[in-house]
Amino acid sequence: MEITRRNFIQFLVGGAVGLQLTPIPWKLTDDIAIWTQNWPWVPVPPTGAFSFETSVCTLCPGGCGIKVRKVDDRAVKIEGRTDYPVNPGGICPVGMGGLQLLYDKSIRFTGPMKRVGPRGAGEFTNISWEEALRILSGRLSTLRKKGQVNALAAVDGNTRGTTMSLMIERSLRAVGSPNYLRTPHAEETYETSSRLMQGTEAPMAYDLENADYILSFGCGLLEGWGAPGRVLNAWGMWHSEHKERSTRIVQIDPRASNTASKADQWVAARPGTEGALALGIAHVIVREGMYDRDFVDHYAFGFNDWRSGDGKSHTGFRTLVLKKYAPEKVARITGLKPGDIVALARDFARAKSPVAISGKGKGALNGDLLEFMAILGLNALVGNINRPGGVLVHEPLPLSPLPEPDMDAIARAGLEKGRLDQAGSRRYPFSRSLLNRLSRTVLAEGESPVDTLLVFSANPAFTLPDGGAFRKALAKIPFIVSFSPYRDETANMADLVLPDHTYLEKTDDIAWPRGLQYPLYGLSRPVVDPLYQTRHTGDVLIRLAKSVGGSVARAFPWENFTSVLKDRAKGLFESGRGRVHYDGSTPVWEEQRIGPDRTADYKTFDEMWEKLLSGGLWYSPVHTYKNWETIFKTPSGKFEFFSSAIELAVRGGTDLKKAGIRVEGDEAFMPHVEISQAKLKTSSYPLLMVPYEMINLASGWIPDPPFLKKTLFDTQLLKNDSFAEIHPKTAAEYHIRQGERIVIESPAGRVHVRANLFEGAMPGYVFLPLGFGHTAYDEFLQGKGENPNDLIAAGEDPLSGQPAWWQTPVRIARA
Ligand code: SF4
Repeated sequence: MEITRRNFIQFLVGGAVGLQLTPIPWKLTDDIAIWTQNWPWVPVPPTGAFSFETSVCTLCPGGCGIKVRKVDDRAVKIEGRTDYPVNPGGICPVGMGGLQLLYDKSIRFTGPMKRVGPRGAGEFTNISWEEALRILSGRLSTLRKKGQVNALAAVDGNTRGTTMSLMIERSLRAVGSPNYLRTPHAEETYETSSRLMQGTEAPMAYDLENADYILSFGCGLLEGWGAPGRVLNAWGMWHSEHKERSTRIVQIDPRASNTASKADQWVAARPGTEGALALGIAHVIVREGMYDRDFVDHYAFGFNDWRSGDGKSHTGFRTLVLKKYAPEKVARITGLKPGDIVALARDFARAKSPVAISGKGKGALNGDLLEFMAILGLNALVGNINRPGGVLVHEPLPLSPLPEPDMDAIARAGLEKGRLDQAGSRRYPFSRSLLNRLSRTVLAEGESPVDTLLVFSANPAFTLPDGGAFRKALAKIPFIVSFSPYRDETANMADLVLPDHTYLEKTDDIAWPRGLQYPLYGLSRPVVDPLYQTRHTGDVLIRLAKSVGGSVARAFPWENFTSVLKDRAKGLFESGRGRVHYDGSTPVWEEQRIGPDRTADYKTFDEMWEKLLSGGLWYSPVHTYKNWETIFKTPSGKFEFFSSAIELAVRGGTDLKKAGIRVEGDEAFMPHVEISQAKLKTSSYPLLMVPYEMINLASGWIPDPPFLKKTLFDTQLLKNDSFAEIHPKTAAEYHIRQGERIVIESPAGRVHVRANLFEGAMPGYVFLPLGFGHTAYDEFLQGKGENPNDLIAAGEDPLSGQPAWWQTPVRIARA
């Protein structure tokens, strides 16, 4: 075979996607990296001294340990660390391409700038850091003097619990604004479902490596779901010829994704019906008596019908699923056969350690809250909560809290005013942030209620599934400040840019990689000196607070961001547990199963801190299983199929109808199905558009390393055209042929793409990849394909109020 640039790179990505975090592809990669030094398109590093720097990748919440090879001061290659427990030796394609995000000057801001051209044109002029800070602190001081601090808002894309996210939230509170918003994320849905049913706040922790049956409700295990380095490694183990136990992967997916194609079983349920399927499976497990009676009878609340203290009779989860989710009915909703649902239920319940997991695609966007609750309920039904191979319930990471800031009268008055997005209000009591509602509020009012918007590690103008509503809202906001290191779509709308370092130039933390089954705190460190005049946003916020002065300055007594990290890390030391060194001999998920008889591997805080700084790792392999008497923090002290938290919210004045709940009575407090697909489709929009994600196409805030564009097939991107996957039968109904240009139109917008007729796509649906359609960055990213987010109408997920992005009614035609 002739080795071309494209098929060489596809070989590398194939290695990652197909999986294989066995050492072989990585060894080959290494060899090829040396062999290809002579190819003209591979940048040839200068000759010089070789060295390695270790760090942690913070490009996604996966928290992989990385090793960066350097020649003199230049980083030339990123690979996975074998002495890091998350991703022993492997990383994902985006992580492999990370050097382009460091060295590609055309996609970065090289210093502070202010806008000189029209909004969105990306025309800026350089200014000094002194001037940049003077402009922003002056603006904040003016808002405070006028008593208008609630006209300040911030959008934060950092993972919740990281020190950066705490610093940003603290800055807003110290100034006096309640409007700290986060980009919608699956973590929010995990945490809310856990809060409503388990009463706990710690991140969702799936013990995948110890499970023998994984029922994945649309999770793109090979598309970058969870902590991708960890999941890819686990997949390699599940499919190793030398595996000691067998693990069965069942993928529920409306299209033949990479995960579906390589799973042991692919179940093609209609998209958006995953919650109904979970409840149908629950019906069979209950009907056939296959549930865990000990767990359900002693540690769960709301399973059987009961009578409350006021003498009222209540319907329990058992009656609900038996009455409403029989396989025949669920089959009509999901498009599966009743026998398939029965077989799935039996396989799931009979497995020794089955686990059902949620979060569509990469799990980066928020999910359907009722669906997540139904899936969590399924795990409780088989008693696989806090057992090896199940959903583990933890306390949050033992990091020290930052001291409460001492707020002045201006800040106190500002914080008493309601949030602009209504998150946490009676209307949306279970959400902490609703960025989609902020855009609506800004667009609904004549004058924007937001005067100054700060944007951190987020690109909502591109990533928010809202038909471009956020972009329109940005146009109305008088002053926008971006802290992005990249020339992304949102930063291009900014009036002032205070660019952060990129991830390879700074110290930052990872507070528990997404979905990991044990507590882990990671620290990245600079592997090269900052290339340009950028500054760490944590340091900038401290400087900014000092310029505003008064109680705002007092809220930030630290010298720099690293001293805040150090203060938080004291809690890790004081917990008396944890390790800062991993030798790779026993995987943590195995150690965790052996028992909790271990102690910390450091003696003093200084020792722990130095090792944390250099190794980037603190983790705790200690876990107590089956302690169901104490782990649930719900009002009943049990796992709640019937959520007391929802009932309490209703007693406190929440109108569930206004929150999108249409069912009546006790059903409203339990996992159930709200949205009917039949009602979404209309004669004008007879198809549904479903976005999907790929591991070699970044679809979030971080731009795609241009290198990865070369890994795409000609049926994914052809010159500047991206493709929609359509089943040949559906395409035939519209007289559409392979490769033809088509127009897809929804009530929110229209896009032009090419058609890829794909047998693996469910008939009646149009599948569009997320990650294309940038209008910003450089020639490799700009104008390539279309962004499905532009089609998604701003619907709301019932109960949570988050954007409902997983199915949008559309029509298609030849262009
Ligand atoms: S999976 Fe995430 S953390 Fe790991 S290398 Fe890829 S981008 Fe980085």
